[in-house]
Amino acid sequence: MRIKCPKCKGNAELAPDFTIVTCSQCNLEMSYGEYVKYVAHNDVTYSDILGDYAGSTEGQTAGTLDEWD
Ligand SMILES: [Zn+2]
Repeated sequence: MRIKCPKCKGNAELAPDFTIVTCSQCNLEMSYGEYVKYVAHNDVTYSDILGDYAGSTEGQTAGTLDEWD
């Protein structure tokens, strides 16, 4: 699914199994866990939403993703 790229603010792509986030516009590639930490650390708008997940998200899914669009 498409999500907001934390690096270039463009359209990044989250793999259906929530394992990896990629962005063709800036060649971003990171695991979903890294993405959550990156966003939570760099974007105060998302930090409240993702705060509960920032600690341990590796391999887990998050129900709030659908609300990001
Ligand atoms: Zn990007």
